[in-house]
Amino acid sequence: MSETKQTIDRKETVETKPFIYDYTLEQLQGWMKENGEPAFRAGQLFDWLYVKRVTSFEDMSNLSKPLREKLDAQFRFVTLSEITRLESKDGTVKYLFGLHDAHAIETVVMRHNYGNSICVTTQVGCRIGCTFCASTLGGLKRNLTAGEIVAQVVTAQQLLDKTEERISSIVIMGSGEPFENYDATMAFLRIMIHEKGLNIGQRHITVSTSGIVPSIYKFAEENTQINLAISIHAPNDALRSKLMPVNRRFPFDDVMESLRYYIAKTGRRVTFEYALIGGVNDRPEHAEELGDVLQGLLCHVNLIPVNHVPERDYVRTPREDIFEFQRILEKKKINTTIRREQGHDIAAACGQLRAKHMESAR
Ligand code: SF4
Repeated sequence: MSETKQTIDRKETVETKPFIYDYTLEQLQGWMKENGEPAFRAGQLFDWLYVKRVTSFEDMSNLSKPLREKLDAQFRFVTLSEITRLESKDGTVKYLFGLHDAHAIETVVMRHNYGNSICVTTQVGCRIGCTFCASTLGGLKRNLTAGEIVAQVVTAQQLLDKTEERISSIVIMGSGEPFENYDATMAFLRIMIHEKGLNIGQRHITVSTSGIVPSIYKFAEENTQINLAISIHAPNDALRSKLMPVNRRFPFDDVMESLRYYIAKTGRRVTFEYALIGGVNDRPEHAEELGDVLQGLLCHVNLIPVNHVPERDYVRTPREDIFEFQRILEKKKINTTIRREQGHDIAAACGQLRAKHMESAR
């Protein structure tokens, strides 16, 4: 992956000093050099942050006291306060974390038979406006920094440390559009995959976008093994514009063209996320049309029975119709799965917990 240029501004005041989690190992090596320290100190610091997972410079006992003081003067830790924790019968845990500026974000940890995965949030709120999603109801408040995304994984891992469990995969599918917060998302990914840190396998990470076309082209050049998923949700331009206003900015055909480029460039398979909404996009003719559009593309379709958003009028697709949709796609040789629902009993759909929290705060 290419490194985005980001320097550490030493003029930051105590109140606005940056988060230590914002920086990649390479950037920390640069900081050490600038501060007259050997580069290997950055490796030691990285080890404290992501392997030992301490949350105070004071605890970093193999760094000199003056260095610890300097770090403390220039950087701060992200502290996520746990506002709410909901635990599902299936082991899914949903957190509502409070940030330093009183905003709240959701993070979900899911248990699978192959390990634990985490779904992280990249923005406070979202401006994309998908009509079936609660995250977008209050609009976009702000981007998260790389460190605030990192902190969701570190905090969840610290909680799992108690039972000696490990997070082994990451999906960037929480609130927000990661490709509208591109640099922070990429810095987060570089930190997550680093072998000297949490060392999450690239093939065990998926970034999901609503189809921000310029960022798809950019991502194609990143030389990474990280998976790409696209929220498609409709088989044509007109219906997609109704469900996802972002389609008016980046029309269906442009999204498909950018994906063809991505696949040709990387040789990697793309996942299409398709939320089935009763009577809206879940009819056999929609499946037929989608199957035709995806012909010949190295791809996979993931069908998601939509969660009820109380503010919207959508109903769930009956089970039999979901299977029929899958059958039609598979007949057209499109590999299709139905997402196993997790945490349904704790309203684990994107944004619902935060929406409730905002409502009660009002
Ligand atoms: S589905 Fe994702 S991109 Fe769409 S509004 Fe919700 S958070 Fe934003």
